[in-house]
Amino acid sequence: MNKTQAMKIIKREFPRYQKLLHLQEWKFTFKYKWIGDEEDQTYGDCTADPSYRSVTISINHELHNSEAALIHTLRHEMLHILHSAFDTYRDMLEKLLDRREFEAVDTLYDFCSEDAVLLMENIFDKELKIPLSKRDE
Ligand SMILES: [Zn+2]
Repeated sequence: MNKTQAMKIIKREFPRYQKLLHLQEWKFTFKYKWIGDEEDQTYGDCTADPSYRSVTISINHELHNSEAALIHTLRHEMLHILHSAFDTYRDMLEKLLDRREFEAVDTLYDFCSEDAVLLMENIFDKELKIPLSKRDE
């Protein structure tokens, strides 16, 4: 998918998710760029600063082959904001631990973070049955 197509879909779907997740107080920045390398590609990334209620969501638009996949990534990255207070805990550990210790803790953090988002995605899809796209409401 090209950047223009991705931006159009994100612009259409973002307000709905912002409202659903009660993130109206947050300031969002979107970036459309390649994330990762040849061996490890990432569909999206979320960097949130809960202290300032600011977040940057990066979308690797080139990896997305469908609108549904792109919206799924948007929702996934926005769900990470809900547990972003733990990022401050992680950041503090980075200052306190040596590099090797922090890498071990960070691997665990990533696992827990992805698992938390997966559980929230399940609530959306299997319990609340909220359509992925605004178009399907
Ligand atoms: Zn994730």
